[in-house]
Amino acid sequence: MTSIAEAPVKNYQLYVDGQWTDSLSGRTYESSNPFDGRVWARVPDGDAADIDRAVAAARNAFKKGPWSKMTGRDRARLMRRLADILARDYKELALAETTDNGKLLRESLGSSASWPDWYNYFAGMADKIEGSTIPSDRKNFFVYTRHEPIGVVGAILPWNSPILLLTFKLAPGLAAGCTFVVKPSEFTPVSTLEFAKRMEEAGFPPGVFNVVTGGTAEAGRALVQHRGIDKIAFTGSAQTAIAIGRASVENLTPVTYELGGKSPNIIFDDANLDIAVNGILSGIFAASGQTCMAGSRLLVQEGIHDVLVERLAARTKTIRLGSPTEPETEMGPLANRPQLEKVLYYLDVAKAEGVQIVCGGRARPDLGELFVEPTILTNVRNEMRVATEEIFGPVLSVLRFSTEEEAIEIANETRYGLAAAVWTENIRRAHRVAHALQAGTVWINAYRTVAHNAPFGGYKMSGWGRENGVDAVREYTQTKSVYVELEGATRDPFILG
Ligand code: NAD
Repeated sequence: MTSIAEAPVKNYQLYVDGQWTDSLSGRTYESSNPFDGRVWARVPDGDAADIDRAVAAARNAFKKGPWSKMTGRDRARLMRRLADILARDYKELALAETTDNGKLLRESLGSSASWPDWYNYFAGMADKIEGSTIPSDRKNFFVYTRHEPIGVVGAILPWNSPILLLTFKLAPGLAAGCTFVVKPSEFTPVSTLEFAKRMEEAGFPPGVFNVVTGGTAEAGRALVQHRGIDKIAFTGSAQTAIAIGRASVENLTPVTYELGGKSPNIIFDDANLDIAVNGILSGIFAASGQTCMAGSRLLVQEGIHDVLVERLAARTKTIRLGSPTEPETEMGPLANRPQLEKVLYYLDVAKAEGVQIVCGGRARPDLGELFVEPTILTNVRNEMRVATEEIFGPVLSVLRFSTEEEAIEIANETRYGLAAAVWTENIRRAHRVAHALQAGTVWINAYRTVAHNAPFGGYKMSGWGRENGVDAVREYTQTKSVYVELEGATRDPFILG
């Protein structure tokens, strides 16, 4: 595996209709490594014209090409081949992600090693998308349903885990028989183009999978507004989701949203703190806090508040910042300049709100342009901005509670509802609290696990719809009821049925 420092600047093209091609305008832009700022790839700056071309290819593949004639078993075969290729190349793909977004290589490897699971799991479903027969009130009718592929999907991705979040969409969508136009984040174009090479090698017919990169959000906007798109699958911020919602309504295009969070991590007095400390730290500082499910609000029962904060601060001060590819590094840089500015802005907000900065709280330009210290804030109240707004950085806001009821109330008093965790040795309380929390995922005595076979998504402003698990395929199909008249008798034309 080549290290980041040795990698030469790479040139990429768009992947449209099974061809590698420049953008129609011929424009390109550069992707740089967040760790050292070095330009490492040059990619096409696609725009509305390229989206047009990609949507036409995806429509053609969906309606007329070989893909449209394939059975579920045929699609599954291609998906399993893709899974094998991803298992072969997971190290290379992880390095591409890390070089684009600065995430620790071992985190990226942990993610990329799991991608084949999604394709194998959903391949198993491709020939099991079964309708039902409906008992009819009328003896002369036989009624059944079909779950047909929804069509051409526009997938719009964020920069923090591009291929995992693409996979959440692509694996069920391919199983259902859909085709895709993918728009990766402007900050992380490369891994999706590298992924496209594996789709090509696996033998997916031209037009099934298309990638249009762009240096701005223009390609994303064009995709959302395109009349040839049957569904948008979006992962990103709530703010962008609102803009997409407004634009998609023009064509009434259905959208699934996977958005951000301000997830509560609740620690009761009786929790096993040795385990909880690691869960809390990985919950907030993994990926430098840039995960949608980050446990960014820590709710601590008052009896253990001070001792837990002390332990967390002691460990946080020893977190080793550095190069994402070095095995001993525990936290890398932020992913891009706007993200750094956002985190520094919220550190100023924290100071203005009068919270206590127990550790961290500063940029670390001595380590690189995009480094910020892991930060713990105490004396936070739930109405403060550092407790209500998604910072998407290594900033933990600690709040106190006294009773179980109070913990639940504070936890649910948020616009978001993506994830939550509860730490306690009391099994009854653990389930009681898990049931009361308004969140799409709740962990008990753990944090930050997701699986291909368990639904993932948000309550409230954290999203619409679910990814992963058997039901995810339903997000990529639509249901048709078919009524078959069995008797052939002449009927009164003015009576329904
Ligand atoms: P973002 O919303 O800024 O951008 C996401 C994507 O949307 C990018 O590809 C961008 O180019 C595109 N985009 C921007 N404006 C658009 C528009 N008007 N029309 C169409 N596309 C547009 O998000 P980000 O900064 O890349 O990612 C961070 C956010 O993603 C955080 O809020 C995080 O919580 C969320 N996220 C959610 C999940 C989840 O599964 N729930 C996972 C990861 C990240």
